[in-house]
Amino acid sequence: MTTKQTFVIVGASLAGAKAAQTLREEGFEGRVVLVGAETERPYERPPLSKGYLVGKEERDKIYVHDAGWYAENAVELLLGRRVTGIDRAGRQVELDDGRRLGYDRLLLAPGSSPRPLDVPGADLDGVHYLRTVGDSERLREAIRGGGRVVVAGAGWIGMETAAAARSYGCEVTVVGSQPAPLQSSLGPEMGAFFAEVHRGRGADVRLGRKVTGIAGDGRVRAVTTDDGVEIPADVVIVGAGVRPNTELAEQAGLAVDNGIVVDASLRTGDPDIYAAGDVANAFNPLYGTRIRVEHWANALNGGQAAARAMLGQEVVYDRPPYFFTDQYDVGMEFSGWFAPGGYDSVVTRGDLEAQAFYAFWLAGGRVVAGMHVNQWDDGIGPVQDLIRGGGRVDPARLADPSVPLADLAKG
Ligand SMILES: Cc1cc2nc3c(=O)[nH]c(=O)nc-3n(C[C@H](O)[C@H](O)[C@H](O)COP(=O)(O)OP(=O)(O)OC[C@H]3O[C@@H](n4cnc5c(N)ncnc54)[C@H](O)[C@@H]3O)c2cc1C
Repeated sequence: MTTKQTFVIVGASLAGAKAAQTLREEGFEGRVVLVGAETERPYERPPLSKGYLVGKEERDKIYVHDAGWYAENAVELLLGRRVTGIDRAGRQVELDDGRRLGYDRLLLAPGSSPRPLDVPGADLDGVHYLRTVGDSERLREAIRGGGRVVVAGAGWIGMETAAAARSYGCEVTVVGSQPAPLQSSLGPEMGAFFAEVHRGRGADVRLGRKVTGIAGDGRVRAVTTDDGVEIPADVVIVGAGVRPNTELAEQAGLAVDNGIVVDASLRTGDPDIYAAGDVANAFNPLYGTRIRVEHWANALNGGQAAARAMLGQEVVYDRPPYFFTDQYDVGMEFSGWFAPGGYDSVVTRGDLEAQAFYAFWLAGGRVVAGMHVNQWDDGIGPVQDLIRGGGRVDPARLADPSVPLADLAKG
């Protein structure tokens, strides 16, 4: 590597900022340019639906780096700037102010965007989406005084914001289209556990129902569902999932299939272009398939892995996906992966009623994913060891809290 090289990173959020940090830590002395469409320096999003939304976490705690870090590490931070095109032949990106920026290596980390709710009335005042710190602040203003909140979508954003709204004393109704909340991530068994967590705290969780419209006159007044029921609402929170921001890659002729297609070193078909974070659909050798992960740890670790690969290091990104959530006093960590319905059974160990237990998803006798709820002594480490170990496990021993998980991981 010569000192004259320029590495450009598109997307100044967790994956992009961690990539920039890794480039410097690995000794890259060339130019690093981090371009971000938002005007905030890179920050982490998990607090936006949890501690920051409920007013327990300070704003200056959400940032990935201190404000001075970028100048100290000679990382050029271009904020409020969007990359509008990639000229692969000329090895340049085009910015929304018309400038062009040459690159030797390019990292695409533009993340994902909320899926819009496509029903009449979705543009009324009082309908909220949650992706940015500004969204979180507007939502906090809307729910902090109580009122009637309808959450459209029973995924992670929906369930976490439902918990936040309950903590402000709001009357909360969650409408989810599948038979269980969080079903596409956890399946129906553990999804049902989360439905009960919310019902136990006074939320009305309506499942197998779709939002068909939002009524109001300028401002939202009610939400209608596909059974003709009208639910009064002062605030509507849309949690309808996200879609990867693949437009740039598509325009540049890179392979896109549910995200930007990359190999296990996070490289696209163009040897000078990489992708990481929510946008990357990466081949994971642990599961033998491509997986796109929309979680914090994947942005953190993927950004670092992509940076090392950009420097020419041998990189195999084969971590089991990891996710955490906090809802009320229920803290959970999940690790692993399965395609929807792609497991044979769920084995639990511990006390579901007391909301302190492990759950394991088994396929072909092997643990493909696991989670713990409020088991902070051992945490998620033993689950990841079981997944990585890849051996068959005895379900009875897996369910038995007297058998250390570490023993099962040893086979
Ligand atoms: C409210 C909320 C709560 C969450 N909670 C959790 C949690 O509890 N646990 C968990 O594991 N995960 C959680 N996540 C998911 C996690 O935050 C994401 O997986 C992570 O932010 C992905 O990081 P990223 O860097 O890939 O992309 P993003 O964070 O989406 O950032 C991409 C950035 O790129 C910018 N950008 C896009 N296009 C361009 C362009 N053309 N030019 C310049 N800039 C561009 C965007 O404006 C954005 O700033 C949560 C997400 C949200 C929104």
